Amino acid sequence: DKILVEVRDLKMHFPIHAGVLKKRVGEVKAVDGIGFDIYEGETLGLVGESGCGKSTAGRAILRLYDITEGSIKIDGHEIGATPQPELRKMRPTMQMVFQDPQASLNPRMSVAAIIGEPLDEHTKLGKAEKREKVLSLMDAVGLNRDFANRYPHEFSGGQRQRIGIARALALNPKFIVCDEPIAALDVSIQAQVVNLLEDLQEEFGLTYLFISHDLSMVRHIADRVAVMYLGRIVELASRETLFADPKHPYTQALLSAVPEPDPWLEEKVERILLEGDVPSPSNPPKGCNFCTRCPQVMEICREIDPLGQEIAPGHQVACHLYKDTEESAA
Ligand code: SF4
Ligand code: MG
Repeated sequence: DKILVEVRDLKMHFPIHAGVLKKRVGEVKAVDGIGFDIYEGETLGLVGESGCGKSTAGRAILRLYDITEGSIKIDGHEIGATPQPELRKMRPTMQMVFQDPQASLNPRMSVAAIIGEPLDEHTKLGKAEKREKVLSLMDAVGLNRDFANRYPHEFSGGQRQRIGIARALALNPKFIVCDEPIAALDVSIQAQVVNLLEDLQEEFGLTYLFISHDLSMVRHIADRVAVMYLGRIVELASRETLFADPKHPYTQALLSAVPEPDPWLEEKVERILLEGDVPSPSNPPKGCNFCTRCPQVMEICREIDPLGQEIAPGHQVACHLYKDTEESAA
């Protein structure tokens, strides 16, 4: 399978300033050295509790930020250090669907203008061609063409998310980061939007990074799943493996907390309740990031940061429980 997105050692640290002189007193390690591949046409789910760094990771991969460190290759192009003006050329390839369609759509622009904006910026389409393209995008996402001249407030939340999706599709992207695309929507319409994203993926050959805190959702849509905790990826596996045989204690706890009714949950014996809060990403614990809350913590965990290792083909875990050689600590 072709790798479309390749992320290596990605770090996104934000400085913390304090006092009247705004002295730099530390940094928030929102994303602290993550890496994975995303294959063309697949959906990689990125899950974790709020504040784990998954949204920041998604934005960093699209270079909505200047990243602290690391390599990002999209369709063979290294963009980790590309200056913002040059990144413009890559924008059509990679797009984002945001969590809150309300906040991401300009209330003073008509639907046609919103969907057409990327076309104005990146193409030289004539007026009629542009209109036709906008209308065909509205068809693709299931919006009535007759509403092209209406404004965002005249639509429901689900329809507004369709507008956001149409805009993301305008430039025929290959890769789309979906950041909690249904979290702000009514439960009754969440499934419709997810089904739409799946249909569009098939129709246009899209590759998704699907960010969500909702494991049932990810289990439905993702081919593979990466689990994030405190700026790191602690486990990555195929959907089947991750849900049937989670290895990292954090993944096990997350899965045990998924509310029923999910048929696979019936096999689970008990809930794993985690003690304490997620530590601050400005002051992560020494050793394993999860050692302050891990039910299986060992002495070594408080000293040495576990490296990610492949414990079976395609199944990566960063945890000392699965370390089989001395060298991997080096
Ligand atoms: Fe728990 Fe230790 Fe594994 Fe970290 S390395 S998840 S503390 S067992
Ligand atoms: Mg978030």
